[in-house]
Amino acid sequence: MTNMLDAYAAIAGADVIRHLRQLAEPLQGKTVVHVNSTRQGGGVAEILEKLVPLTRDLGLNAHWEVITGDSDFFQCTKSMHNALQGNRLTIPGTLLDHYQDVNAQNAQQLCPMLEEADFVIIHDPQPAALLKYCANRKGKWIWRCHIDASRPHRGTWRFLERFVRDYDASIFSLPQFAQALPHPEYIISPSIDPLSDKNIDLPLAELDAVRARFDIDPDLPLIAQISRFDHFKDPVGVIEAYKLARRFIPKLQLILAGGGATDDPEAEAVLSDVYAAAENEPNIKVLVLPPDAHRTINALQRITDIVIQKSTKEGFGLTVTEAMWKGKPVIGGDTGGIRLQVVNFHTGFLVNTPEGAALRIRYLFNQPKKTQEMGVTVKNFVRENFLLTRQLREHLTLMYALQNGATNRIELG
Ligand code: UDP
Repeated sequence: MTNMLDAYAAIAGADVIRHLRQLAEPLQGKTVVHVNSTRQGGGVAEILEKLVPLTRDLGLNAHWEVITGDSDFFQCTKSMHNALQGNRLTIPGTLLDHYQDVNAQNAQQLCPMLEEADFVIIHDPQPAALLKYCANRKGKWIWRCHIDASRPHRGTWRFLERFVRDYDASIFSLPQFAQALPHPEYIISPSIDPLSDKNIDLPLAELDAVRARFDIDPDLPLIAQISRFDHFKDPVGVIEAYKLARRFIPKLQLILAGGGATDDPEAEAVLSDVYAAAENEPNIKVLVLPPDAHRTINALQRITDIVIQKSTKEGFGLTVTEAMWKGKPVIGGDTGGIRLQVVNFHTGFLVNTPEGAALRIRYLFNQPKKTQEMGVTVKNFVRENFLLTRQLREHLTLMYALQNGATNRIELG
């Protein structure tokens, strides 16, 4: 029907697109509004960028709204994020009051639209309190948690739970992240868009140009972590692993590339730790990229031999999926959503320490045949499990299920 969906048929299969159209049929014309707190940077923005237009292509009236806030607000929500991922920190009451005030201010603008929508999907803690200020909602509200909330700081979760419990449903990326809530909870893992600038095939000349631009020697081994500068992504641990691995692979090069997100105030501090750890290391390149450097990131993921994502906490880790789609085995932190993607000896290796990462780097460079085999496995693994079309199918199914209330049986035409 539309070119965009047809283009996906070529990658995901025509039957997948037929299935999406069938699921979308009973939802024609329904309004669905996604709300998050940044238009650029981080996995949520990455997903919404394409999920929303594709939903529209299927005949739903889909929108994406972004709340605004000042630096205190984002300081507070970053602390919430860290606390939900397990950090023991108590957020001052004044900041929590401010969090609610900012949500109330955003609600003044957004409520007329949100209250009328058939489905509202609120992403992560930042806009979670909006529901409290949109008392006359007509549709179903869903809270979508992208964070590894498996062991949240109790006080912070109790604060957030006061807002989240009133939603009609919530979505978590892994069963281990789900919380005790008085509504249906769904497990939906994120996905990548194979047709975005971040993931499409690139001409060899463009890869060469990126190598030249960042002074990367094509004849020397290269590893890379491409991720926001965030303590949970452990970029300093990657540098430690690199220094250990270099004992066995003397000419090894490392790229640490990333930027911040507009809702992340901590990137600067992490970056200065990274610069300190990389001092006097000419073969470590620290690249601070602008938020729209999608093709550059694509190229970096393609030119590297191995991708590292040594997170100590990770909701999902789209960077892992992106690397795998480009045929790269991933050495990933043994945590959260990375465990869904990285299967030891098949799609990469799970590690807990810089020493573990260094050993796996050595293994992959010493076993080129195995590394090549893994390169084939990883791409098929993403095609089967982590393409946008799968996530869209699950969103449509969820909307349909919520629309049909408590009926146990759902008939598709
Ligand atoms: N990303 C980006 N620029 C950067 C760093 C990351 O565009 O400088 C992208 C990355 O390619 C991925 C997303 O941001 O698509 C990060 O998602 P992920 O789930 O890995 O982590 P999050 O940042 O959401 O914690």
